[in-house]
Amino acid sequence: MEGRKLKYVKDLVCISCGEKYEASPTQYLCPKCGEKGILDVEYDYEKIKKDWNKEELKANPNPSIWRYSPLLPIEPNTPKPPLKIGGTPLYKSDVMAKLLGIETLYIKDDSLNPTGSLKDRASAIAVLKAQEAGMNTVSCASTGNAASSLAGNIASMGNEMKAVIFVPSRAPIGKVTQLLVYGALVLSVKGSYEETFYLSQEAIDKWGWYNRNAAINPYLVEGKKTSSIEIAEQLNWEMVDWLVYSVGDGCTIAGAWKGMYDLKQIGFIDKLPRLLGVQSEGCAPITQAFKSGTDLVPVPENTIADSIAVGKPRNYIKAIKAVKDSNGDMINVADEEILDMIKILGKKTGIFGEPAGVAGVAGIKKAVENGIIKPYESVAVIVTGNGLKDIKNAEKAVGAPLTVQPNLNELSQLLKDYNF
Ligand SMILES: *Cc1c(COP(=O)(O)O)cnc(C)c1O
Ligand SMILES: [Zn+2]
Repeated sequence: MEGRKLKYVKDLVCISCGEKYEASPTQYLCPKCGEKGILDVEYDYEKIKKDWNKEELKANPNPSIWRYSPLLPIEPNTPKPPLKIGGTPLYKSDVMAKLLGIETLYIKDDSLNPTGSLKDRASAIAVLKAQEAGMNTVSCASTGNAASSLAGNIASMGNEMKAVIFVPSRAPIGKVTQLLVYGALVLSVKGSYEETFYLSQEAIDKWGWYNRNAAINPYLVEGKKTSSIEIAEQLNWEMVDWLVYSVGDGCTIAGAWKGMYDLKQIGFIDKLPRLLGVQSEGCAPITQAFKSGTDLVPVPENTIADSIAVGKPRNYIKAIKAVKDSNGDMINVADEEILDMIKILGKKTGIFGEPAGVAGVAGIKKAVENGIIKPYESVAVIVTGNGLKDIKNAEKAVGAPLTVQPNLNELSQLLKDYNF
């Protein structure tokens, strides 16, 4: 009866039919509703309010996501991955604000997580839940940050746990290599991503591994919510008008909203921000469903922003509900706008994001131009992944360096020509 050991969790509720389930580590979906039976963790806010407050949190020297443990679905004594997850910086950038046409902009650099993306926040929770389930092998199908963050967090547990990662054979060599460096068992599947995903599901069922396939696992969103909770704490509990996230499967933005909801319920914040979800024009099924009000239609994945290139997103219901509940909006950006933003953000702030990592920032520019965000409104955006993960696309944005002979005269001429 694992559920009872979770001090502040009441149960899991199905977002489609409302049925409640005991919060056991392996209760992934509502069996009645199948793929649409995404579960949501319900907390006992009254109890949290009694046991926890802002002063206590302020005095806690732990800078990682575990400082928010009362709002996480974990047992107190489960061993935690020793990597420092979360606690990433929030910068105020007046230069970028001006460039985007607003007065106040904060940028949270989540590319500084241990494996280079926001996904560490979710994978760390997966490592804990696997242990609570008594399983030492965790598996997922992914070519990107979900896999590398899982492999890295498992590696940090020493020799106690194993990661099994399924990748489609077209996966970029850089990302596959990161998995191998972390010592994961990497299986390159000769098939499409869809086939890879279903093979991983079959293997997970057959060998009883813990399932870190996002959206299917309700606990992962809870890890992701720490990104917005951190922003609130960093802003001394005065939330901005808009909170901006790039959107692929939809788990991250849904998590961001959950974090805000939690903080409101326990009285840590008064004002809720509006959410702006940003997708890539070449793959925007959630924006499409949000705007049209119809059910989601899967689309092809035609964008350089691979981390949000999700043609058949699995957590769109939660994502759309979050944006609607916040009185927010969705917007799409083109690949050229993303490439431009890699360059501008790098040059103006020293933050180097991967394409999906800067898509949110590109979305602000467009939302201001379209009158969605007003110039006087304050905005916080999260850079979700590190630019070093995708050098090929960064190179497209910035081109090649100047070349010069080892000769000072020639260098002088070159700098003059270059107007430096
Ligand atoms: C996963 C990811 C996202 C989007 O998160 P979803 O939960 O898929 O919506 C955005 N940026 C990066 C870098 C990611 O890895
Ligand atoms: Zn259901």
